[in-house]
Amino acid sequence: MGNSGGKGLSLARRLYASRTLGLALGLLCVSAAMYPLDPAPWVWGLMVFNGVFWPHVAHQWARRAKVPFHAEHRNILVDAFIGGFWVAAMQFNPLPSAATLSMMAMNNVAIGGLRFLLVGFVAQILGMMVGGLVFTPTFIPSTTPLQMFACMPLLIVYPLTLGWLCFRQATTLGRQKRELLALSRTDSLTGLLNHGAWKDQLEIEFQRCKRQQQGGAIALIDIDHFKIINDTYGHVAGDIVLRHLSKMLKQNLRATDVAGRYGGDEFCVILPDLPLNGAAVAMEALRDRFASLGYEQSPGLKVSLSIGLAAFDPTHTDATLWLNDADQALYEAKTTGRNRVICRSNGMPYHELLDSV
Ligand code: GH3
Ligand code: MG
Repeated sequence: MGNSGGKGLSLARRLYASRTLGLALGLLCVSAAMYPLDPAPWVWGLMVFNGVFWPHVAHQWARRAKVPFHAEHRNILVDAFIGGFWVAAMQFNPLPSAATLSMMAMNNVAIGGLRFLLVGFVAQILGMMVGGLVFTPTFIPSTTPLQMFACMPLLIVYPLTLGWLCFRQATTLGRQKRELLALSRTDSLTGLLNHGAWKDQLEIEFQRCKRQQQGGAIALIDIDHFKIINDTYGHVAGDIVLRHLSKMLKQNLRATDVAGRYGGDEFCVILPDLPLNGAAVAMEALRDRFASLGYEQSPGLKVSLSIGLAAFDPTHTDATLWLNDADQALYEAKTTGRNRVICRSNGMPYHELLDSV
């Protein structure tokens, strides 16, 4: 309900502008067609009300409605009905009638698609029938030059304005779509890539390494005893630690490295085109710097990291196997005392690999 109210309000705002303009220009067009028919004063009054005051009444009506969206749909049908009424009143004078009906139809299809176009047509026909009952139903087969010129502003300015409004709407939607996409890939606490987005990048990097026969490394980083930190210093302090780590990752990695939050207190990094030695040096520096970090709000707090590092293995058929290697390295870092970096290359622990050379 809340959503439909908000949506309705923005629709009401857009329609307010286009209705004010369209009906003011329409008044000029209809007046020129009605003038030779010498209409009664109440008809002039109704014309002025419709052309000048109705847009404001309709807007206030929609704004105050429980669901502005539905109220605007009703207002558009009222527009269509009155449009049909004026067509009968103008005795079907060809150009003003076509201009009035088509501008309204354009508005209806832009707002509510084919369904609304058809409903609008029905409202226009009903308006014509009522108009036919009120005025003598005759047909004026030609439009005078003056009447034609009076229709020009409606025929030129209104479509231009509506096109411009649609363009602006499309631009806003495009921007919002891009923002939503970025949001759906971002971890809200740390601003890093979230789990899904990072895994997409891992897949891309895995395929690139395979294609180019190039090496790279990935790291899984886990905060040691984070649960105890939360329990001792509180979750707010825990969140600050998570943000500090993400900030450090952003500041200390290369522009080509891709950092993400894997979940909870676990982070992940892709280090493209870096041999395992280089990656180990970078992660060791990160571990060291993070361990010596002080926290203003919690002076006694010291936090360490366990890091599992895995080199790209060309024999792997799947990126998840690469991730498994990093996971095993992380497991080893956790089980051998924490606060350390453990590397794996070609499925073997790095120290065993060095021993076997
Ligand atoms: P280990 O050294 O083995 O990694 O132990 P640990 O306590 O770090 O690991 P464990 O998985 O037991 O605990 C992780 C904790 O992280 C548990 C959970 O409450 C906390 N956590 C997960 N997400 C968040 C978060 O967004 N903010 C905070 N403050 N805590 C979080
Ligand atoms: Mg942990």
